[in-house]
Amino acid sequence: MSHNPDPERQVRRAVCPGSFDPVTNGHIDIISRASLLFDEVVVAVGINKSKSRARLFTAEERMSMLEKVCADFPNVTVAGFEGLLTTFCEERGIRAIVKGLRAVSDFDYELQMAQMNSSLVDVETVFIPTSPEYSFLASSLVKEVATFGGDVSGLIPTDVLTRLTERLAERAREDRA
Ligand code: ADP
Repeated sequence: MSHNPDPERQVRRAVCPGSFDPVTNGHIDIISRASLLFDEVVVAVGINKSKSRARLFTAEERMSMLEKVCADFPNVTVAGFEGLLTTFCEERGIRAIVKGLRAVSDFDYELQMAQMNSSLVDVETVFIPTSPEYSFLASSLVKEVATFGGDVSGLIPTDVLTRLTERLAERAREDRA
């Protein structure tokens, strides 16, 4: 059978949502694999004002770190979103939400979220299993380990490590003042 690509086929767009505070090699693994499966991938950074004080980096900082990292992938862009992810998807004609699954513990919540989202709008959630070397990796753990002087250089990009080290030093100075 000959291959007959449909010229009318719609662009397949996906979103990789998260807070990315900061982006880790685990996120990059999922983003790069999603970029091979879809025509266009938008990395959507949650700008939740009520949570802003709990974040180490501002939304602008998180997005600028991601933009640098995603420059390697020609079909990946970075955007901020406020409010419902499903509204963001509707506005941009996105039909797929890509989530990385690290362990069974991620699954309960992600399944509930996926079902809720598809009940709200016409969107599917696609789960990509994390590469084993990143299955323990979470932004929160990276921050905790780095705060106490642990070596996280193999877990985040070099630029992100530089910014993280600076920010933690600033926070330590503020705490001492
Ligand atoms: P949130 O604040 O929603 O937990 P994160 O920025 O920590 O967001 O992560 C965003 C998404 O990236 C997660 O929902 C998950 O799908 C994926 N992810 C995070 N860390 C990893 C990892 N180590 N391996 C695979 N996927 C990951």
